[in-house]
Amino acid sequence: MSEPDVRVDMLIVGAGPAGLFGAYYAGFRGMSVALMDSLPEPGGQISAMYPEKVIYDVAGFPAIRGRDLVKNLVEQADTFSPRYLLDEQAAELTHEHEDGGVAGTIVVTSTAGLRVAAKAVVITGGLGTFTPRPIPVGREYLGRGLVYFVPSLAIYEGKDVLIVGGGDSAFDWAVSLEGVARSITMVHRRDKFRAHEHTVAKVTASDTEILTFHEVREVHGDDEIERVVLENAKTGEVRELAVQGIVAALGFTADLGPLTRWGLTIDKRHIVVDTRMWTGVERIFAAGDITEYTGKVRLIATGFGEVATAVNNAAPVIDPAAKVFPGHSSDVA
Ligand SMILES: Cc1cc2nc3c(=O)[nH]c(=O)nc-3n(C[C@H](O)[C@H](O)[C@H](O)COP(=O)(O)OP(=O)(O)OC[C@H]3O[C@@H](n4cnc5c(N)ncnc54)[C@H](O)[C@@H]3O)c2cc1C
Repeated sequence: MSEPDVRVDMLIVGAGPAGLFGAYYAGFRGMSVALMDSLPEPGGQISAMYPEKVIYDVAGFPAIRGRDLVKNLVEQADTFSPRYLLDEQAAELTHEHEDGGVAGTIVVTSTAGLRVAAKAVVITGGLGTFTPRPIPVGREYLGRGLVYFVPSLAIYEGKDVLIVGGGDSAFDWAVSLEGVARSITMVHRRDKFRAHEHTVAKVTASDTEILTFHEVREVHGDDEIERVVLENAKTGEVRELAVQGIVAALGFTADLGPLTRWGLTIDKRHIVVDTRMWTGVERIFAAGDITEYTGKVRLIATGFGEVATAVNNAAPVIDPAAKVFPGHSSDVA
């Protein structure tokens, strides 16, 4: 077999909050580490779904915006210069000794063919790979005015924005864009919303125009989006609207996909682990939302603890002379 593209002590699959903190811990333990994620930016669910929301239950932060928590985690991990392999979905896993290679090495190959060799793998894959539910029309404008993830509020300054959807994300974006965008219009094909009452009330009372029973029929624009045609599905009435941005907040599907073929014990879309966060498969650990055990609580706070446990238990697997307990970071200069 040819030499892998990347060789590290530890590969972390999933650059959400658990994976990012794991990268810090692996570095603290003296390991070289790579973080692979199918999304183009780190932060997992936080970056994808709620970067502008304030989180109140992360220890040590009475209140922190999602985006800021991710920035801090990246900064903390950067102490040890992890290698980011973004836009790469981990697909295949082989134990190298199975095909005559170096014993004790795992090789993970991404969907795009990138091969990463590691002495241990920690899976922090959360819900799995996210795929946004596509907007029925105008998909060709992706990156030219159409987004499924809002990369930054600033790009909507002074623009007319259309938000499609009636769930939490749609209403959260309407709240966040208020005062940033020139105008906000929301379309939803029903008159019932799947969002917190409080947020719905806030948006209803704002300048945002909410069009229920409406659907997007056409999207136009030479290069970037310029206007849309909306139809009232009840009355058939059609109206045109000038917009420069569409936020399609129709939800995501999440799928463990290739991870289910790695010989792990899967319990309803989660990986079963023991108290060491070991999956039962040689050199593979897991942490964060993706794990399952009696009493599991899926929160950022628990993911942080679990990934510290996983990385520290992987340390003696990588180097038999290493101890599980890392010592105190406060004792290290
Ligand atoms: C709207 C909302 C609000 C929330 N508010 C809070 C809150 O206030 N407090 C709180 O504690 N929790 C909150 N949560 C939950 C919290 O976001 C999750 O518990 C947390 O993100 C889990 O972190 P994680 O690192 O385990 O996984 P995730 O954040 O899900 O990250 C997993 C990453 O793995 C990647 N991945 C998956 N499979 C692969 C693969 N095969 N190859 C490569 N990459 C892969 C994914 O792309 C993703 O980036 C909220 C969740 C949502 C949706």
